Amino acid sequence: MTLSGAAKLAGVMGWPVAHSRSPRLHGFWLERYGVDGAYVPLAVRPERLREALKALPALGFAGCNLTLPHKEAALDALDEITPLAARIGAVNTVTVGEEGTLSGDNTDAFGFIENLRHAISGWRADAGPTVLLGAGGAARAVCAALVDAGAKEIRVLNRTQARAEALADDFGPTLRVEPWAARSSALAGAALLVNSTSLGMTGQPSLDLDLGQLPKAAVVNDLVYAPLATPLLKAARARGNVVVDGLGMLLHQARPGFAAWFGVKPEVDDALRAFVAEGLEG
Ligand code: NAP
Repeated sequence: MTLSGAAKLAGVMGWPVAHSRSPRLHGFWLERYGVDGAYVPLAVRPERLREALKALPALGFAGCNLTLPHKEAALDALDEITPLAARIGAVNTVTVGEEGTLSGDNTDAFGFIENLRHAISGWRADAGPTVLLGAGGAARAVCAALVDAGAKEIRVLNRTQARAEALADDFGPTLRVEPWAARSSALAGAALLVNSTSLGMTGQPSLDLDLGQLPKAAVVNDLVYAPLATPLLKAARARGNVVVDGLGMLLHQARPGFAAWFGVKPEVDDALRAFVAEGLEG
């Protein structure tokens, strides 16, 4: 679409940023809704993050997304942070206010829950225990989302147990830490299994997990989306579990930013999914 001189601007800051699917994702919506706007990759070195963020109002940007390694560092570089972003300890969506103030939010928790709700009709966080593998940045967003959605029990298992314990300290008694070595037996009685580790991702080791004790009615959600069908999801599907891949979380987390910057509430549908998934099939 041809831009006018009044085009609205947004982008994604990362280092590196070339791998980001966000320009493709927002570009699809800009085209679909005929928005006079652009969403561009912004390759920003870590030591220049503050400077780059402060330049957004001067350049007339409506805001930006943040990806690795900027999500945590941005907390100190913005004028306002939503309580949710403070709780998660990371910002992925920045909006520029009328006075040029920079506000930071985290939409990963929203993306996680919306993905499950769209993928499985009638899905509820309080249907039974969740087993959460991993305790990194993505796990923090998952915990915030599940606790806020009414989850009663989240079993957290992480290779570095101290990190899982820190998560339990931050998110309260809904979380129960179990040793990483007990990950297969921890599946007994679970209603939801979430992989928030990077295991199973292209170029990473695979996730060593025996699904034998996981109830057949449990939902399995892998946050890894490259490849789209991870070995975990393939194994879960083969034994009859309902599986949800990680791409939907990426698509849904983008909705609030697009609405704030470009003034249109976008929809996630199969056409968007197929467009953004190109090359991820694996
Ligand atoms: P992170 O903060 O670096 O955390 C990485 C996690 O993986 C940690 O729990 C780490 O355990 C674990 N891990 C890494 N290598 C391991 C190994 N060899 N054995 C056991 N555990 C290992 O990363 P993140 O931001 O949370 O992202 C995690 C994954 O989620 C990535 O694949 C990312 O692409 C995906 N993600 C997807 C979405 C989405 O929208 N679908 C959003 C965010 C993230 P330790 O603590 O022991 O190191």
